[in-house]
Amino acid sequence: MALFVQKFGGTSVGSIERIEAVADIIIRQRQLGHQVVAVVSAMSGETNRLLALAHQVDDVPSTRELDVLVSTGEQVTASLLSMVLIRKGYPAVSLLGDQLGMQTDNLYTKARITHIDDKRIRQELRHGRIVIAAGFQGRDSEGNITTLGRGGSDTSAVAIAGAINADECQIFTDVDGVYSTDPRVEKNARRLDTIGVKAMLEMASMGAKVLHIRSVEAAAHYKVPLRVLSSFNPDQGTLVLTDEDEPMQSQNVSGIAFKREQALISINGCDAHPIILADILDILAQKAIEVDVINQVYQNCGKVDYAISVPSLELRQALTALSKNSAISGAQMTSRDDLAMLSLVGTGIKTNASIVSQFFRVFADENIDVFIASSSEIKLSVLIERQFLELAVRALHATFIMADE
Ligand code: ADP
Ligand code: ASP
Ligand code: MG
Repeated sequence: MALFVQKFGGTSVGSIERIEAVADIIIRQRQLGHQVVAVVSAMSGETNRLLALAHQVDDVPSTRELDVLVSTGEQVTASLLSMVLIRKGYPAVSLLGDQLGMQTDNLYTKARITHIDDKRIRQELRHGRIVIAAGFQGRDSEGNITTLGRGGSDTSAVAIAGAINADECQIFTDVDGVYSTDPRVEKNARRLDTIGVKAMLEMASMGAKVLHIRSVEAAAHYKVPLRVLSSFNPDQGTLVLTDEDEPMQSQNVSGIAFKREQALISINGCDAHPIILADILDILAQKAIEVDVINQVYQNCGKVDYAISVPSLELRQALTALSKNSAISGAQMTSRDDLAMLSLVGTGIKTNASIVSQFFRVFADENIDVFIASSSEIKLSVLIERQFLELAVRALHATFIMADE
């Protein structure tokens, strides 16, 4: 008998028919004698609908109340799925964040899981029940409802799988695995049978939203076998290999990831003192603003310029926070919000000079300006104008994925 955690995303539970279909996927495992904990998202569109309601009430709603509001989406799905299973003759019980023992810090809307007290889940499983867990939600040490950030149900699922030592965590979604790039943008994208956990981490952190970044971190940390597959036609999907299983890769490039909505903040003419960079990063970290790239350039006149990329959604908050800082008050701060971040991901590509030069040649050939470039061991990233994103994704895909076939 195996123990599976099966997570079903928004589209997979987007209607009563879909919830019935998901119940059948769970029942199939039960009929094979396995135990199942299912983790569910809100029905597709529901979290956005709730957020829009909140913004009708207040431009900048209380984040505590936002979490109370948006966590209701998952509550609805968990109870409906449980009802369907019970009607079909299978014992099931829905559990919300608190009941799941999902403890988090108190950073509302972006909370991190600190611990899972798995007593209740294990007790329900012992009683032979299918546990239906509401994803995305937890509670802080004072009992307040928290949520884990957009797409966070993946992370709920992997963390639960780690806590109960599941044999596999299966992420059911609306595509049948991890592709070389978003198949909605490049129809020739290839499904990967396997992907190394490091490359998957980089793909997720660079915008491939098929897996929430923290779910991949958790899978790496707890060594949870993680599989991405379709709830519409379940097949073998894509297996994320943990380090030990990862074979020597003959092919270096795994894929292309992107973030469509990026903004660039330029701060020019700062005094040359290293503390300023530390201050800037501190200010943004305090607000939990995600910084993808930060460039620092010393000018001949002794002044320093900074260029910082942040998600468009967080631009206003970042500008407000930075403008309050006295260290940069004498400098000139400007921003633009029409950019996108594009990344080529694969093991060892930074050290492969021909890949690096080919990468930049693609932008030159397509006449696309590159505003910032950055690299890590396993990725090359650029910031370009948003209007050229699709063109650039396809050009990179043709050069690095298709040409390799
Ligand atoms: P769910 O609601 O099931 O969590 P998401 O919308 O969060 O689903 O994630 C699935 C989507 O991720 C796909 O529909 C696809 O458009 C997108 N996606 C982006 N990059 C990739 C990729 N490299 N491989 C597969 N899907 C990707
Ligand atoms: N319902 C949440 C969202 O839409 C969490 C999730 O689906 O993973 O972001
Ligand atoms: Mg998702």
